[in-house]
Amino acid sequence: MLTRRGFFAGTLATTSTAGVASLSGVGSSWSGRHSVVVVGGGPAGVCAAIAAARHGADVLVVEQGNCLGGMGTQGLVGPFMTCYDKSGKFQLIRGLFDEIVRRMVDMGGAIHPKDVRAGTSFAAWHVRGHDHCTPFEPEALKFVLDDLCREAGVKVLYHATFMSSVMDGNRIAGVEVLTKSGVRRIAARVVIDATGDGDVAFRSGAPCEKGDASRGGAMQPATMFFRIGNLPESTVEAVRAQYPNESMCFVSLLKKAKADGKWHIPRPHVNIYRSVKPDEWFVNVSRLNGVDATDPQSLSDAEESGRRQVREIMAFFRDYVPGAKDVRLLSTASTIGIRESRHVLGEYVLDKDDIIEGRVPSDSVFLCSNSIDLHAGKGASGTLYMTIRDGDWYGVPYRCLVPRSVEGLLVAGRCVSASSVAAAAIRVMPPCMAMGQAAGAAAALAVKSGVAPRVIDAEALAGLLKSDGVWLG
Ligand SMILES: Cc1cc2nc3c(=O)[nH]c(=O)nc-3n(C[C@H](O)[C@H](O)[C@H](O)COP(=O)(O)OP(=O)(O)OC[C@H]3O[C@@H](n4cnc5c(N)ncnc54)[C@H](O)[C@@H]3O)c2cc1C
Repeated sequence: MLTRRGFFAGTLATTSTAGVASLSGVGSSWSGRHSVVVVGGGPAGVCAAIAAARHGADVLVVEQGNCLGGMGTQGLVGPFMTCYDKSGKFQLIRGLFDEIVRRMVDMGGAIHPKDVRAGTSFAAWHVRGHDHCTPFEPEALKFVLDDLCREAGVKVLYHATFMSSVMDGNRIAGVEVLTKSGVRRIAARVVIDATGDGDVAFRSGAPCEKGDASRGGAMQPATMFFRIGNLPESTVEAVRAQYPNESMCFVSLLKKAKADGKWHIPRPHVNIYRSVKPDEWFVNVSRLNGVDATDPQSLSDAEESGRRQVREIMAFFRDYVPGAKDVRLLSTASTIGIRESRHVLGEYVLDKDDIIEGRVPSDSVFLCSNSIDLHAGKGASGTLYMTIRDGDWYGVPYRCLVPRSVEGLLVAGRCVSASSVAAAAIRVMPPCMAMGQAAGAAAALAVKSGVAPRVIDAEALAGLLKSDGVWLG
């Protein structure tokens, strides 16, 4: 019997159903049927969709916004953090990530990470964690993702918000989404939750944790990213030259603004990332503590407060940064940037030690080196930063993509199964794309072989990923 778990979520049935749904037997009330439905078209979701479609699945992406790319487009977040190993010598994350980057490079919309080094303006002059990051233009990312989806035969339903899971016992049989023409009920053999917030997993009854349980559910702060223009690099470099002991930008200038009562944001420096376009920068400075992205009012308040902070930051540039009085605000992000909300609990929960000790489980679906970067992990303005101690990379196992208790569901991206601290390393876009690619390939494999994603052949999955350019060591 089909039941709906959504805003009216019931308790979780505990019987286990192996296999994937047979779409012919689930009734006639569906408005669409696909072998794989991906909810959320961000970095994880779009890679999941392309990978699944390339392996023969009939794929639909359900996206609440008007473009693919998630935080990378709607959120104006960039650059892509490192895809290299800790030594900075070897590109670990390849596959679809690299394909997307190369397409953007070809249209003049990105610089390949091999050509970008730490300590430069493209890396906001950061050294740790920023070697071989990838500056890109969000509009180029939109175009490339449109092209790749169209070429792979992925269907995309924009302006469609996931509402509820349709459950057949403990197996997800489809989703209900809210569209301009009302509610659509879409059947799927496998659903991939790439919402960032774990909306589908949560509504399906999978266990989730919000924030860091060991710190009273604390979540990383939100940030309103924005883009500025008419600020030559030479102007910024000239100001930096006046403060040779400050590795971060404008620390003394901010102190002065604070003393004058003109700075109220709990951030002691300015992060500005040079864009691929001349004189343009992406600004990652605003900081909103205590935002809960799963609470609509908290999210709404954050949008307004974020824009208010943007005005304060713009005033700081004009009034305190020598030579920057003509800086222009080009755009604020169309959505507030959320670093953390729900963590779906899967068959394995990645933890801090997996990262620090450079562990590579046998069912790893990608390898990466991103460090733990827990904003506000040391008080409101401090960041807890930890990097790999043993080796140059760690692996993320397939089990992190498989939620406990619910069949027919995979999770990819920010909400994947990881502790709050470990998620602070793998939440950045290159790992999210890599786990999306793995989830998509796994979903296609499950559909083809008629088994639940939980029990697919791990070696077959690794074989598929390797043949698709994923480096697994
Ligand atoms: C302030 C900030 C700074 C960051 N800095 C960097 C950085 O410099 N480099 C880097 O690589 N990463 C950075 N990140 C991390 C990175 O941007 C995100 O963690 C990453 O984009 C997560 O990818 P995702 O696909 O899981 O989720 P998202 O990018 O959030 O995409 C989720 C998608 O799902 C859609 N969606 C959500 N809910 C629903 C629903 N109910 N129904 C339908 N659609 C839905 C959303 O519209 C969105 O398109 C930063 C993040 C933030 C917030």
